[in-house]
Amino acid sequence: MDTSNLVVYLPPAMLGVVAVAFLLLWYLKISTSWQWSAGFAQAGLGFALVPFPVSPTFDIFVAGFLYIGAAYCYGSAILIHFGAPMLRVARRLFVGGYTVVHTIAVLVFESLRAELFLTDVAFACLFGLALFNAATKVSSLADRAMVVSGVLLLLDTLTRTVVFTFFIQTSDQIADFAASGYNLAVTVTTITIGLSFPFTALGAMASAAIRRHREASERDPLTGLFNRRGFELAVPRMTKDAVRRGAVIVCDIDHFKQVNDGYGHAVGDSVIAELAAELQRHLGSRAVTARFGGEEFVAFLPDVSLAEASVMAHSVRIRFAGRDWRPHGIDRQITVSVGVASLANGEVSEAAAIKRADRALYTAKAAGRNRVAVARDENDCMDAVEAVALNTTHATRDQIVGSRVSVA
Ligand code: GH3
Ligand code: MG
Ligand code: MG
Repeated sequence: MDTSNLVVYLPPAMLGVVAVAFLLLWYLKISTSWQWSAGFAQAGLGFALVPFPVSPTFDIFVAGFLYIGAAYCYGSAILIHFGAPMLRVARRLFVGGYTVVHTIAVLVFESLRAELFLTDVAFACLFGLALFNAATKVSSLADRAMVVSGVLLLLDTLTRTVVFTFFIQTSDQIADFAASGYNLAVTVTTITIGLSFPFTALGAMASAAIRRHREASERDPLTGLFNRRGFELAVPRMTKDAVRRGAVIVCDIDHFKQVNDGYGHAVGDSVIAELAAELQRHLGSRAVTARFGGEEFVAFLPDVSLAEASVMAHSVRIRFAGRDWRPHGIDRQITVSVGVASLANGEVSEAAAIKRADRALYTAKAAGRNRVAVARDENDCMDAVEAVALNTTHATRDQIVGSRVSVA
């Protein structure tokens, strides 16, 4: 066995393994696109024609299409990964143009140099178009590494083709390809530079999958808000001062069981989703709002005083109570009870304030529901003066929805 030629088996073997691995990742839903696997499989098949030749013209002709197919698939996978426009029409027109020129170069002119130059430049353009469109959307280190290794692959392709076309006068005979310096160069650079691309793509894909799963584990699928776990991770990410000067709102739908029983669970779900949207609309973009469970929501409002939080809570309660639910098939009023508390002096986390707001919520429920109760201090004293002031602010709407602010 001639071991000096063993090197030509490496690119197809390695790309084949990579293609199978990416197929598995797609099947396991870790990768978002099968195009990675298709791209590496096509590149691997192109290289496999060197150790397993059919005929020189056939090999060159088919290999060209396989490499351009690989570039198209890499491009699609990259654009999908970054959520960029797919540019299908432009890329397919480009492949169509390549098909015509490539066919003429190989079957009419039978020029090896023209074929290699054409395929390399087309590969670089097709692949570069996707990289260029993706580059602006790079967010993580893993994404950056993939784009950098993609650019290296592109530069490697262009450098090789320029050197072999314009500086090294190799044979133009298609039959001489297997023994050419070009073939050796492409084999060596694929094993070294080229294979960094699938590994960095794997890294980018894994880091995106971890991000997706982390995001899912911190979010409530019905409302899109944080769940309890997401809330407990998000609040400590704020500055210490913003937390120390923050307030908490706890909100629960009144007699929600009746909504479920009277109109069905699906309608109940839409009421929950609507309350979530209402909270998001009125609590400001800095609020960390979460569905803690069932129809109970907790919001942390950074840099918001107790009085401001009480006004917000009141506004949410009034808006919700005044909603027309007929489009949802509900012909009755739905109300919420709200408990409000702020962090006491010396407190550095929201945990104790949540407990106080929860007790205030219980007070609001016990006092008849459709109310806001404010825990004035760490002893759960509800502030009567503030409560009355809040109530008068919304006197007109309050008459409509028949609500009060409860005091203890
Ligand atoms: P209260 O005024 O005392 O709060 O009375 P309530 O009927 O609202 O009582 P509670 O808050 O304990 O009710 C929670 C109900 O919410 C019980 C459960 O069936 C329902 N629930 C919990 N999760 C969901 C959900 O995801 N969708 C729907 N539709 N209902 C849910
Ligand atoms: Mg309830
Ligand atoms: Mg509840």
